[in-house]
Amino acid sequence: MALPPQTSGKVSPFVYTQCQSIHARSIFPCQDTPAARIRYSARLNIPAGLCAVMAAARGRRREPHAGEAAPACPDGTWCAEDRMVEEFQMEQPIPPYLFAFAAGEIRSREVGPRTCVYAEGGVEVVESAAREFAGAEEMIRVGEGLFGPYEWERFDLLVLPPSFPYGGMENPRMVFLTPTVIKGDASGAQVVAHELAHSWTGNLITNKTNEDFWLNENSGGGAGEDRAALNIGIGWRGLNNEMERFKNNMEFTKLKTNQEGVDPDEVYSEIPYEKGFHFLWRIERQIGRDEFDRFLKKYIENFKFQSVDTETFVDFLKENVPGIDQEIDLEVWIYGTGIPPDAAEPMPAEEEVAEWCGQEWELYLENLPKPLEPSLVAALDARFGLAESGDWEVKVAFLQLAIASGCKEYMAAYLRPLYTALLQCPEKEEGKILAHRLFAEARESYHPIAQGVVESILSRHQ
Ligand SMILES: [Zn+2]
Repeated sequence: MALPPQTSGKVSPFVYTQCQSIHARSIFPCQDTPAARIRYSARLNIPAGLCAVMAAARGRRREPHAGEAAPACPDGTWCAEDRMVEEFQMEQPIPPYLFAFAAGEIRSREVGPRTCVYAEGGVEVVESAAREFAGAEEMIRVGEGLFGPYEWERFDLLVLPPSFPYGGMENPRMVFLTPTVIKGDASGAQVVAHELAHSWTGNLITNKTNEDFWLNENSGGGAGEDRAALNIGIGWRGLNNEMERFKNNMEFTKLKTNQEGVDPDEVYSEIPYEKGFHFLWRIERQIGRDEFDRFLKKYIENFKFQSVDTETFVDFLKENVPGIDQEIDLEVWIYGTGIPPDAAEPMPAEEEVAEWCGQEWELYLENLPKPLEPSLVAALDARFGLAESGDWEVKVAFLQLAIASGCKEYMAAYLRPLYTALLQCPEKEEGKILAHRLFAEARESYHPIAQGVVESILSRHQ
């Protein structure tokens, strides 16, 4: 529930649901597990000035029948005479966590044959939302190309009041979105694309238990191509941070977790997203994009409108990609903790970096996991000449990565310019004192080769 001050319009209250992971039970009695699927119909009795939406097909809007009166509300403000009833019908069976509705001051604009944008707030809000999501139909077609037919008829979008605490929620037929996705630069498209992908993985094929949540959060398809190397670098940082967060509870660094007696909200993390992404990408790199796409389509066709567990996915994978378990250690990926040893090389493709400026390189390098496998550090440098970059920030970011990764050959490259600069600075005496002090403090931590390099620099500047 959002009170008027928490909305964009500031006049009317707004109500919305958020049932994932286990909150459907707080709305109606149910077997609140994603293993179950339900159909439903609903009649929402709302103030006549407001409008309701639902993860369901829209029916009539009409006057209340006798016996459909709204229950009295405590202060009598919103339950007075003027009421309307909106009818909804959900024919496609969904897990309870995808049950959703909202009501408030909602305006709408058609933006495509299957898409209407709804938004809380004034006309400007719905208009900028309509501009932001003008490409929805194009996106659905891309999704159908990758995953097969779109099975939900409608792909409507609801922009919620600013107090909505999530980026997006993939409620079928009616995706919920935070208003921050309307920036006017089409960046909200990324959030919508993620929620749209759930139309296949998550909504059509659902994780059987919350322990299999990673299956929901991975549409995999085209990972290598559609997700820029930059994002992979940033994803790595997220993954590393989460590994750190769960270092005393490594169970939740697994893809398949044991959540017995655990509230899924408590252990929500980026791990199912990022580790799951790397797992599917590992498979894609092994078998190639085309075969991976074929596998994914077949998996969706085979299990649509069902709930599956990780083991079912793995069995289906082994059956359809014979020998995959010889090439990839599936057990380690799924039941192992931490980051698997054969996770993707964080090596961006030439065409991806062609447009990168220094800042993007810096961001990319800073976000790589540390320590990185030394051979990868060397490969990065061999391909992109980072140690000799003319951009000082890039050079430093790379050398820091190299040193943090224990690449001894870069120690001298890192230390030489630093010590030389200190010794040649205009305040000669000060620089010299600082260089000697620094070396005295850090000497122990340098590799013997690096110690020798610094010693020779210092002796030349006596
Ligand atoms: Zn998601």
